[in-house]
Amino acid sequence: MSARFIPIPCENVIGWQAEGVDSSGLPAKQKISDGDGLSCRHCLENIGKGDPYLVLAHRPFSGLHAYADTGPIFVHAAACRRAESSDTLTAIFNSAGYILRDYDNGEIIVFGTGGVVDRARIIDRAETILENPAVAFIHARSEQNNCFHCRIERAST
Ligand SMILES: [Zn+2]
Repeated sequence: MSARFIPIPCENVIGWQAEGVDSSGLPAKQKISDGDGLSCRHCLENIGKGDPYLVLAHRPFSGLHAYADTGPIFVHAAACRRAESSDTLTAIFNSAGYILRDYDNGEIIVFGTGGVVDRARIIDRAETILENPAVAFIHARSEQNNCFHCRIERAST
């Protein structure tokens, strides 16, 4: 079972970059990167020192419900190219550990399958989780701050 890492859709990011509102109904805040480990959830690359970026609240779910938590993310303030969905880890995974939290088709957490994994084990763990037919997708989040990084699904081929 292959795992595919999926960045935030372009339509979300283009809206934020055009001064649209975030999942909290507020405009994104623009800041300048100090180059210290910030990563863009659209191109899945690090945000370089001196580059402008947006801090905003994102709810990576299709609807509002008890499991649809909202949290802070970063994206480039200037247009950037969305990363291709991929079966390899990108630069966005630059910390030691990550939370893999698993959801069913109704976006409800599948209890007993999620957890914290070392960076080197993310792909193996995601592939194992996706063997469970109850799991529709996974969210990869930072271990330290619980920030959403990307969605992980089964590769279609
Ligand atoms: Zn970017």
